[in-house]
Amino acid sequence: TRREGFSSIPDVRWEDVGGLSSLRNEFDRYIVNRIKNPEDYEELGMNLETGFLLYGPPGCGKTLIAKAVANEAGANFIHIKGPELLSKYVGESELAVRILFNRARACSPCILFFDEVDALATKRGTDGGQAAERLLNQLLIELDGADQRKGVYVIGATNRPEVLDKAVLRPGRLGKLLYVPLPSAKERELVLRAVSRKMPLSTDVDLGALSQREACNNLSGADLASLVNEAAMAALEEKLQLPKAVTTGEKKPLVINASHFENAMSK
Ligand code: ATP
Repeated sequence: TRREGFSSIPDVRWEDVGGLSSLRNEFDRYIVNRIKNPEDYEELGMNLETGFLLYGPPGCGKTLIAKAVANEAGANFIHIKGPELLSKYVGESELAVRILFNRARACSPCILFFDEVDALATKRGTDGGQAAERLLNQLLIELDGADQRKGVYVIGATNRPEVLDKAVLRPGRLGKLLYVPLPSAKERELVLRAVSRKMPLSTDVDLGALSQREACNNLSGADLASLVNEAAMAALEEKLQLPKAVTTGEKKPLVINASHFENAMSK
């Protein structure tokens, strides 16, 4: 619903994020507290990173964390998808990069989030040709200007850190690397809790036991979110299948129970 490339404060809260607490700590120290208490940080004369790279398998919460950080800090958030920036502004993507950083400065405190940043910052001399190189150079110039962009933090995200040009990862650019892993069994439970926290779950649903199952072993956060949605869908379908005589009677509240989760698991 929001226009890509424009700023807004995201509505993702930390409660919406399952697990990933060490990342939360890092971002609290590097971004949230800094935006909230800038004087303390200045007084100590610290020279801390303002650029971050989140890397790891797809669907494990990179975008979600970045949004939660902005929400927590009360900062604006600008979401850019690397491939779209390339294709929408063919030949003008350097200009687009400049405009984005200007926009971020104008609405600081601001978090500029580059999703699939590898599309903008692949190793020079691979494919892409001259246009891609010019774009990357422009990105490096903007990243180097950290002094001139107080209150602007840049977070890049990628599933393929190995294709990034090393220059992007230097200190002062996207200098702080943070791995976002597939959830462990315990973290799967936290993700299931987070994504279902506003849903009516029956007491027979045991998210702890569910998250321990072998079938859940390699599921990502996104997979777990769709599992919960499938369970909700099963609850809904069950209600719709009830004969009319039953539904017109006393209105029973919709509840997602263990059998709905079994149904979802089988899918
Ligand atoms: P990609 O690399 O594909 O862009 P990503 O790591 O940025 O993926 P997100 O977009 O943050 O992943 O996650 C996709 C969806 O999966 C989220 O909107 C959320 O519903 C769910 N999800 C993923 N990880 C988590 C998590 N740790 N806690 C709660 N929900 C999660």
